[in-house]
Amino acid sequence: MSGLSLNDITKTFGDFTAVDNVRLDVPHGTFVCLLGPSGCGKTTLLRMIAGLEEPTAGAIVLDGKDITPVPTHKRELGMVFQSLALFPHLSVGDNISYPLRIRGASRDAQKKRTEELLALIHLSGYADRPVAKLSGGQRQRVAIARALAISPKLFLLDEPLSALDAKLREAMQVELRQLQQKLGITTIVVTHDQREAMTMADLVVVMGNGRIRQAASPIEIYRKPADAFVADFIGSTNLLEVTTDSAGRAIVLGQAIAGLKLPAGASKASLSIRPEDVHLDMPGKDAIGGTVTFVRDLGGTIETFVEAGGASIVSVATPRERPNVKQGQKVGVVLPPESCVVLPQ
Ligand code: ATP
Repeated sequence: MSGLSLNDITKTFGDFTAVDNVRLDVPHGTFVCLLGPSGCGKTTLLRMIAGLEEPTAGAIVLDGKDITPVPTHKRELGMVFQSLALFPHLSVGDNISYPLRIRGASRDAQKKRTEELLALIHLSGYADRPVAKLSGGQRQRVAIARALAISPKLFLLDEPLSALDAKLREAMQVELRQLQQKLGITTIVVTHDQREAMTMADLVVVMGNGRIRQAASPIEIYRKPADAFVADFIGSTNLLEVTTDSAGRAIVLGQAIAGLKLPAGASKASLSIRPEDVHLDMPGKDAIGGTVTFVRDLGGTIETFVEAGGASIVSVATPRERPNVKQGQKVGVVLPPESCVVLPQ
């Protein structure tokens, strides 16, 4: 296969397993985000792909070749870390051309490639500028260009945008994704920011405790989370308990939900429903009775918190859809069965 395969990769430190039997195939040209809470093993996995850490077991295969024993500098990688590690005393151009210089490229080849890369990162004309005089976002782009100078087979980034303020980070996410699309380079980014992963990735790999909990497209992860951990980590969700009554109907918060099915043989499960799928209505016999405890009007969206059947449920709508809900109001909560994802407990 053209691309990257992680074949049952495990990494232990003493008796602690940081990465546990990870198996993943990444087709050439895919943008992957490794996503998960702090300590779940994302960086350790990326460092093994980079050759900075040796797997305890398993193999890393790039374009059909086992690169597990190949040292970092021979893996043809581009890497960007949170710290960027630019050379502060060098100009923008000299930073970008550095990897070419140490590989012995001619002066002309260095100049040509540096100019191409400067155009790619929208910094044409900045070659002679000292790095110290750049803004945070410009430095980020220079670090990316330097990593791409050798036209690597794999582009690896560890929390590359986390030092930037929120607005700039969002703009850079779009820029990074567009750059990757233009180059078609297989890219793996470590992040703990689910919005960042949803913005950039073709393939989101959600990790927990060193294991892959789910690897799928952003929308599939959002719409069909594999378990409660993934559902809760990606976006916000309402996690509720489903049981069955004596007639076999699914019961959520004391109310039977027609059309909702539990897995065969299960009498209990978890249910995830996104806030935008929770409808609020007048109290009625087919709805779950509740009371509005808080309304957060964010201008573009209104989040309504409802206490119902002993649980707190969040519902999101636009101001046009929900003009007049007030704190203390009695409402009926409707959970459309087609929007409910039943998860194993
Ligand atoms: P973060 O988002 O906080 O960077 P992460 O998901 O990238 O977290 P890792 O840095 O991969 O997590 O670490 C996974 C686990 O392995 C952590 O519990 C960490 O303490 C442990 N670990 C990482 N490197 C070593 C090491 N060299 N020696 C011992 N334990 C380590």
